[in-house]
Amino acid sequence: MICYIGLGANLGDCRQTLRRAIERIKKIPAVKLLRVSSFYESEPWGVVNQPNYLNAAIKLSTELEPLALLDELQRIESELGRLRREHWGARTIDLDILLIDGLEFSSERLTVPHKFLFERDFAMIPLKEIFPTLEVNLRGDNVIRATGSPVDFKLKLVACVDKNFGLGREGKLLFRIPEDLKNFRCLTLGHTIIYGRKTLATFPNQKPLDGRRNIILSRTLEKVSGAEVVGGVEELFDVLDAAEENFVIGGAEVFGELIPYATEIFLTVFDASRQADAFFPNVDDFTLTAAQVADGFEFRSYTR
Ligand code: ATP
Ligand code: MG
Ligand code: MG
Repeated sequence: MICYIGLGANLGDCRQTLRRAIERIKKIPAVKLLRVSSFYESEPWGVVNQPNYLNAAIKLSTELEPLALLDELQRIESELGRLRREHWGARTIDLDILLIDGLEFSSERLTVPHKFLFERDFAMIPLKEIFPTLEVNLRGDNVIRATGSPVDFKLKLVACVDKNFGLGREGKLLFRIPEDLKNFRCLTLGHTIIYGRKTLATFPNQKPLDGRRNIILSRTLEKVSGAEVVGGVEELFDVLDAAEENFVIGGAEVFGELIPYATEIFLTVFDASRQADAFFPNVDDFTLTAAQVADGFEFRSYTR
């Protein structure tokens, strides 16, 4: 099922807390994070004497039963330090289920759609951003676009695949042709590239690439000369520059971790089938916006 979650925080470092919460939701088994909204600042609703809120919405698909999903969200709320005192009072994090497919139901623990969703601009505005076909009637509350969402880093995924979206086999790329290498160089030169340990191993002399800021996402590598190593996605967001172009270049695992946060994808798709053991993640949540056909392959661009 497809499910939309609303996030809100107004105590502590709200930007960090929202990013952490989203990463934790991404890691729930049987949950696939599909899309993340910008962050928005809003004035408190219901109980006024408290700091402003930072809000966001995310889209996910899951096989979990709604109540099992609610359990996971409540676990993450407690892990991130939510204490339930006053109803509608200040909180480090609130994770509410806004919508599940087209379902409508109400039980003791869970009402879907969320019972105040349509009365809350702070929930509807981020939701509309990631669910553009949803009809909304806003009340005109003060909800202002804020910075700091993972989507503000404008992560762009770049890969070369066969017609089945196969990426590689035994740590090697499936294709290596001059036109594609030139295209890759053209896109990334002078910008930031983000990749994993196994991708580093495919570079000439296993060295970071020249003329670009190299960031390696790895839990095991310690230091690499000519590159910055970060241990996880939260740490990556701490070092990224939102004014830069940030290209994610592989491998499969890194694409899988970062695709929910990506705003663009550049794929070179070969018109051939190869044996692959690593695949590019599903792009169904993106729109194909351009395709340039060449001899035996095409360059495709996707956006949200
Ligand atoms: P509000 O529900 O007005 O947004 P809140 O989010 O501050 O208020 P919480 O303290 O987070 O309220 O949750 C109170 C209870 O609401 C939860 O224990 C949960 O069982 C119930 N609940 C009912 N529907 C939902 C929903 N769609 N999403 C999350 N919790 C829900
Ligand atoms: Mg709430
Ligand atoms: Mg809640």
